[in-house]
Amino acid sequence: MAKISINLATGSLQKEEIIVGIDLGTTNSLVAFINPDKNPQVINDAGKGILVPSVVYFNNQNDVVVGNEAKEFLTTDPTNTIFSVKRLLGRSYNDVADHKAIFSYKIIDDDTDSLVKIQAGNRFYTPIELSAEILKELKARAEHALKTPVNRAVITVPAYFNDSQRQATRDAGKLAGLDVMRIVNEPTAASLAYGIGLDPSQQKTIAVYDLGGGTFDVSILQIQNGIFEVLATNGNTYLGGDDFDRLILNYWIEKNNLNLAEVAEDNILMQTLRLKAESAKKALSTQNLFNEQVGEIWCTLDKQTFEQLIAAKVEETITACKNALADASLTSNDIDEVILVGGSTRTPFVKQAVENFFGKTPQDNINPDEVVALGAAIQADVLAGNRSDILLLDVTPLSLGIETMGGLMDVIIARNSKVPTKAGRQYTTSLDGQINMKISVYQGERDLVKENRKLAEFDLKGIPAMPAGLPKVDINFLLNADGILTVQAIELRSGVKQEIEITPSYGLSDDTVEKMLIDSITHAKSDVEQRMLIEARSEGEQLLYTAERFIEKHAEHLTASEIAETKIHIEALKTALASQEKDAILKKADELNEFTRPFAERVMDAAISTAMKGKKIE
Ligand code: AMP
Repeated sequence: MAKISINLATGSLQKEEIIVGIDLGTTNSLVAFINPDKNPQVINDAGKGILVPSVVYFNNQNDVVVGNEAKEFLTTDPTNTIFSVKRLLGRSYNDVADHKAIFSYKIIDDDTDSLVKIQAGNRFYTPIELSAEILKELKARAEHALKTPVNRAVITVPAYFNDSQRQATRDAGKLAGLDVMRIVNEPTAASLAYGIGLDPSQQKTIAVYDLGGGTFDVSILQIQNGIFEVLATNGNTYLGGDDFDRLILNYWIEKNNLNLAEVAEDNILMQTLRLKAESAKKALSTQNLFNEQVGEIWCTLDKQTFEQLIAAKVEETITACKNALADASLTSNDIDEVILVGGSTRTPFVKQAVENFFGKTPQDNINPDEVVALGAAIQADVLAGNRSDILLLDVTPLSLGIETMGGLMDVIIARNSKVPTKAGRQYTTSLDGQINMKISVYQGERDLVKENRKLAEFDLKGIPAMPAGLPKVDINFLLNADGILTVQAIELRSGVKQEIEITPSYGLSDDTVEKMLIDSITHAKSDVEQRMLIEARSEGEQLLYTAERFIEKHAEHLTASEIAETKIHIEALKTALASQEKDAILKKADELNEFTRPFAERVMDAAISTAMKGKKIE
């Protein structure tokens, strides 16, 4: 039974607010909720259908329509009909430039790393605004069907979505008037829909194989103590059922002795044939032969030929499964369950290939189009406090850290750390009287920040003037379950504090992540050498600064010969610094340190001597 509470002010019964689960898909989107019988259920508002095509159309008055109605304009007004907007969420033009041929609408080419915009009519839209239109439609359908306002939702995203794409999804929700309670990975939602992970004592390793209309991904999840951890993901964001349709269409064109370029000129004919190819494909999921005509064109296809046509594409998905297993350091024997997601897994040949590879029958009882939304509804129910607590865990693909002296990367959250996570470290100033500290946040595996990706930069202002090394600045990183990073800097003596939430200005593609990792391995040796030299230089320069200030400030406590000899050591260190020789710098720094140590102990308080060793931010 749904929880009913009484509103004490009015004395009336109040229904508990429903949190819906939304699968915001590339091809189709849908919304689900937990019904009064405690079961997840997809919403079919007024028989309009469960799946809402993720298509947005703007007419010349800039009025918007979404879903099936918008889909009809794909052939008649393609430049103002936006599909596949999920591919653009949180991405820059540079991220999508290689695939721009598939978009029939105008993506603004500013050749930069800022987020893309789309032109429809005389207006420009961000993918966030366009996704918000789809979410508004889902919200309206849910409200209409459930006869109650819907203000809160869980939205799913692919496991490989990066911070920027997750943040963009969250922003789209906000713009649609939804309080996004959680961004959940699609494979996690699918596994929840099958009830896997709901019992905290359960330990399982599962593979989620998701083949939709235009995208494919496979995720390996480990579930224990109610925690879902993504061990690996792999796939191809430009592979799906649409490719099967294209292969069928090309086959018919060839069999009918037609010329593809000529047929392609006739937009309407092309679209009709494409839809026919899709029906053939769907029909062949349950029968052995498809035989229809479009005008004079014979559209005949038997199951065996269809399977030959798609074999190479299906094999590609199996290779991705192999790679995912290898990345997770597992073999197919380690996989306890295989779950099928996405409409294209209805093709028996696909199902069989997955079964052959993993050596077990995949789970396919739940409608593969609905399974993610149903799981999202279950997660929403967990968040509403209606089920025992389930955590969601992910790993961060690249290390996160800040820039320290000499442009070095100081890692605070290491790559592959489980999220949510927090970590922090203490820093200090490098100059006397320093009142501002610049904090630059980077992502990547290289030792030098300039080789990594800058996420953000901010100043911690208003540190009270103190000698170098005295302020204690705690820098804390908090990476939440959605993969969004909050960085906080606080000077402990004064309590001065600054906090930022990081929304990277552009996304990282899987390829970029991979390249960054490979680079870090190829350059490991030279990186270490550079790091050691930079560390030696920073230490030397800091010592020089402290020693020079020291003899200036404390001259009255020192003898003339102590001052003169310190100056000789200072000069020697300066020469070594100019030489860029790490060993020479360390040697001269050591000598200066050893020589001045007795005077320092004499006159300095412990704080300054700690400072000489501590890490500094420029
Ligand atoms: P999705 O993106 O998960 O909604 O998947 C949509 C894809 O599934 C499209 O390419 C559809 O043509 C395909 N699909 C839907 N039903 C079937 C079916 N019965 N057999 C094969 N493919 C299907």
